[in-house]
Amino acid sequence: MRIVLNRAKCTGIGICEAVAPDVFEVDDDGNLVVLSAEVPAGAEAEVTEAVEGCPAQALRLEP
Ligand code: SF4
Repeated sequence: MRIVLNRAKCTGIGICEAVAPDVFEVDDDGNLVVLSAEVPAGAEAEVTEAVEGCPAQALRLEP
């Protein structure tokens, strides 16, 4: 599964980072960095939670 970020929608608040800090990081400029475009093994549940919890619907998963 790949993580796809719609940067135009992302507000940089970082809820995804709070849920899955190994995968998402908001940099000092407030830009979200996806640290691993492929969902790491064992992180499927937290990444799914982060994607579903994004208030801006800026994240999606694709096969
Ligand atoms: S939760 Fe959504 S809007 Fe917030 S930083 Fe993550 S991707 Fe961007």
